[in-house]
Amino acid sequence: MINPMAKVGSIEAFRSKRSEELGLVYEKFECQCADCRITKRIIKGGSVQYVYQCVRCGEPKGSAIKQIDAMRLSGGNEPSIFDLKLMDAYRNAKLLAVSKVKQKYSDSVWWDMYDAYLRSPEWKNKRDAVLRKSPLCEGCAKHMATQVHHKTYCHVGDEFLWELVAICKPCHERLHDHRPLHEVAHD
Ligand SMILES: [Zn+2]
Ligand SMILES: [Zn+2]
Ligand SMILES: [Zn+2]
Repeated sequence: MINPMAKVGSIEAFRSKRSEELGLVYEKFECQCADCRITKRIIKGGSVQYVYQCVRCGEPKGSAIKQIDAMRLSGGNEPSIFDLKLMDAYRNAKLLAVSKVKQKYSDSVWWDMYDAYLRSPEWKNKRDAVLRKSPLCEGCAKHMATQVHHKTYCHVGDEFLWELVAICKPCHERLHDHRPLHEVAHD
């Protein structure tokens, strides 16, 4: 069985991967709007506006142009209609790409991997090693340790043993009292 954490790394690494991929998406969809054409746009209330539209992203560029100038710029012809579909399609494609990355790298994906890790033989071995090393709770030294707490998730999946603490259930519960809920369910 492959250690599930090997795929996702620490939560910090996972999040920075997310930012990195989001950056690539934003970069991909960034448009210099180098190629624009003059269009006729019907705006709210039915009035007509002449405006440049980027042929790539479909966004309007610059301010409205007088009809007489618009006609002259399109060689005496009435400019073609502003392509609303192009603009919407580009915006939607960008939103979709962004949400895909956010989904792929959502924190809950990481926590699911972490849960899978806690059920893995790798974790069981590590946990056993910690409990063997200190059978007594490192929080109170009164009870036997039955659980293992992560002091950090930095190397999760490939922890140093000093990043793990043998602890009794009451101490562990007290420790996680002030933590966000998703951490409470975990070791
Ligand atoms: Zn553009
Ligand atoms: Zn204790
Ligand atoms: Zn804990």
